[in-house]
Amino acid sequence: MKPVVKIGGSLLRSAGDFLRAAEYLLKLPEPPVAVVSAMKGVTDMLLELERTRSYLMYEEVLHKHLAVARLLGVEDRVAPLLKELEAALRLPRAGWTPDYFASFGERLSAAILHAVLRRLGAEAELFVAPILTNSNFGNADPLRLEHKDKIAAPGVAAVVTGFIGRDADGRFTTVGRGGSDYTATYIGREIGARKVSLVTDAPGVMTADPREVEDAAVLPLLSLHEAVEAAKAGAKNFHPRTFLPVLEAGNMAVEVRSYHSRGTLIANIYPPPPYKIVTKCGQGSCVVGLSAYELTKLGGTPLGRYSVRLDIPPRQAHEFLVKPYIRYINT
Ligand code: ASP
Ligand code: MG
Repeated sequence: MKPVVKIGGSLLRSAGDFLRAAEYLLKLPEPPVAVVSAMKGVTDMLLELERTRSYLMYEEVLHKHLAVARLLGVEDRVAPLLKELEAALRLPRAGWTPDYFASFGERLSAAILHAVLRRLGAEAELFVAPILTNSNFGNADPLRLEHKDKIAAPGVAAVVTGFIGRDADGRFTTVGRGGSDYTATYIGREIGARKVSLVTDAPGVMTADPREVEDAAVLPLLSLHEAVEAAKAGAKNFHPRTFLPVLEAGNMAVEVRSYHSRGTLIANIYPPPPYKIVTKCGQGSCVVGLSAYELTKLGGTPLGRYSVRLDIPPRQAHEFLVKPYIRYINT
C-alpha cells in the first residue's frame, strides 16, 4: 500500500527546500501520497491578507512564491494562482473568504512540489483539495475523499494539498490551523495506508517543547491512545484531531520524523511505553502518559485516561515526572 508522507511547512522555505523534499520523496521504496503544507509562514500571511487586503502583503506572498518558482523553472504553475489571489483581494469579506484565502498556501506549494517532481522525471499527479468537507469554515469536518482510487493507484506519486478541502458547493474549506497532519492521517485511513509519515523540522515527538525544557528528549515510541491525548494537550502543536483517523483505521502506524531522524513511531501498543510528555497548559502543565496508579497518586485535574493537568510549570513537571524515564530512551 502506498505510504502517505506529509511534508510540513517548516521544511518548505526556499527553492532548495522543494528540491530536498522532492528528493526525499523520490528515494522512498514506493511512490507515495505526498500531503503538502503551505510554505513556512504563508498561512498567517494569507489570513492577514484576507483581513487587511493590503496590496503590500499580497506582493510579499507573490514574491515569496515567484522567487522560488523562478529558481525551479516552474513559474507557469504559480502565475495563475497568484492572479486568482490578486482578484480575490476585491471580494467582500464573508464567512468563507478566510478559508478561500488560506487555500492558496497549500495550492501554491503543492503545485510547486508537483512540478518539481515532474521535472525530475517522476510520474506524479496533483490533487487539489480532494477532501469533501462540511461548510464549517475554519474548522471543517472531512466527509469523504474524492478520487480515492487515483490517489491510491500504485506506481505514481500523488501530490495532495494538506489542510484544505471543499464543501458541497465547491468552496474551499480548512480543517483548522496545523491541520495538514490531520488531513494526512485522514487520507491514510481513506486509502487503507499502513503508514503515515509526518515529516517536520523536529526529530520527532519530544518529552517537552525543547524551547521550554532544555533536556527534552525525542520519544522513540508512543502509544496511539497517548498520542490522541497528547494532541489534545497541545503537544508539538498537533491539530487536536490528528490521531482520530488512526484510531478508526485500526492498524495504521504514524511516524513523526525529520528527513534524517528515526523519529517517533506511534502505534497501537499496549501497555504503553513508560515515557511521558509534558506540555504547557495555561499557567500549569499537562502530563500525558501516566499510568492509572500515577494518576491517582498525583492529584491534579484528570484530562483523560493517561493525562492530568497540574499546577506546576512544565520545567518542573519534566524534572520530576519525565526525567527519571529518559534514561530508558537513550539505551
Ligand atoms: N498551513 C496550515 C497552517 O499553517 C496547515 C499546516 O501547515 O498544518 O495552519
Ligand atoms: Mg503543522
